[in-house]
Amino acid sequence: MVIEPKVKGFICITAHPDGCDENVRRAVEYSLAHKGESKDGPKNVLVIGSSTGYGLASRITAAFSFGAATVGVAYERPSSGKRTASAGWYNNAAFEKYAAKHSLPFASLNGDAFSDEMKVQTMEAIRKTMPGQKLDLIVYSVAAPKRTDPHTGETYSSVLKPIGKPYCEKSVDFHTGKISSVSLDPATEEEISATIKVMGGEDWLMWINALKENDLIAENAVTLAYSYIGPELTHAVYKDGTIGKAKDDLEEKAREIDKALSSIGGKAYISVNKALVTQSSAAIPVVPLYISILYRLMKENGTHENCIMQMNRLFHRIYDSSDVKSVPVDDCGRIRMDDLEMAEDIQSRLKDVWSVISSDNIDELTDIKGYRDDFYALFGFGLDNVDYTRDITDF
Ligand code: NAD
Repeated sequence: MVIEPKVKGFICITAHPDGCDENVRRAVEYSLAHKGESKDGPKNVLVIGSSTGYGLASRITAAFSFGAATVGVAYERPSSGKRTASAGWYNNAAFEKYAAKHSLPFASLNGDAFSDEMKVQTMEAIRKTMPGQKLDLIVYSVAAPKRTDPHTGETYSSVLKPIGKPYCEKSVDFHTGKISSVSLDPATEEEISATIKVMGGEDWLMWINALKENDLIAENAVTLAYSYIGPELTHAVYKDGTIGKAKDDLEEKAREIDKALSSIGGKAYISVNKALVTQSSAAIPVVPLYISILYRLMKENGTHENCIMQMNRLFHRIYDSSDVKSVPVDDCGRIRMDDLEMAEDIQSRLKDVWSVISSDNIDELTDIKGYRDDFYALFGFGLDNVDYTRDITDF
């Protein structure tokens, strides 16, 4: 079968195994090129949400730049009949192929990270993959639409909505370049608390508690979870919206985890990352237009980074510090990997473009093409080096 993209709104329901392999190969190559740059680094790493986006980039950085053994947890769809697997499934297969080639220990688990069973299975995998060792880095990079609370059995769904009042802003259909205005009604109290349940820090805390009870966390270990803040332009739908409330909860849980790890000299950090095209960010209204302008300005400036570059810089920031407790942070204790995105000149130029942007000048003033290319690339499409005419029988 020749596999082609089948796009439905902000999701592509097919994925190309060779294209996903090519994405992972490039990230591995980038990481290998930066190997040995830090004198220190993680050696035994767990990544929860390890198959796409920032989690995959964290795992690749840990393994290929630092030689770490990695255990990855993700929730991806295998192929069935005529339907391809999800991109994350193929990314994971590619990760395993390259890790084996470089003799790096690994284990990958596919299932619901929110469940107790997955936590138990992961502990077993850690003991097998890293015999006699403990984790020195735990990355929590889950982005999910739903979560079932393992204790009550209740399922919660997250929403991307403003809080308090309706929000109306420009948004783009990145397939056509057509700009229209999007109006979002404010979230109800129930929707706010459901989003906190799904995207807040409760499950991260549960993972750390379970790992600690099982004595699987090493002295001076670091745990990371990722957040986003962004400019005022997106605050209503992000920072001050339902997802922002969930991120506030993530920060609160980081402080709790920090206390829980202090007895073993460990540290919990929130890293505020750059806005990038991922399966999760494509779903947020307004954000694709913001990213299209941002990409244009940051590429012109020579400061654009993709997921693997961001994670490489993050790991350097952590492991080039004199110790894990001395990583440079902002006033709220967060690591700011969005520093280049939030640079004053970039944000003021972005505001200017935002005020005049329309369907007529979108190609001229933004990198909508770069956005689109990155979107297709997430699913393994549109990459050089890939034979898209190949008849694939083993997908
Ligand atoms: P993504 O959609 O690319 O990755 C999500 C990962 O979570 C995948 O590996 C997926 O398999 C896994 N996952 C989803 N549900 C799961 C479940 N129930 N059990 C196990 N695994 C599950 O997302 P991303 O954009 O890389 O986001 C990761 C984190 O980074 C999020 O916290 C997000 O808010 C944050 N972040 C993203 C951006 C951005 O622009 N994309 C910017 C800053 C911070």
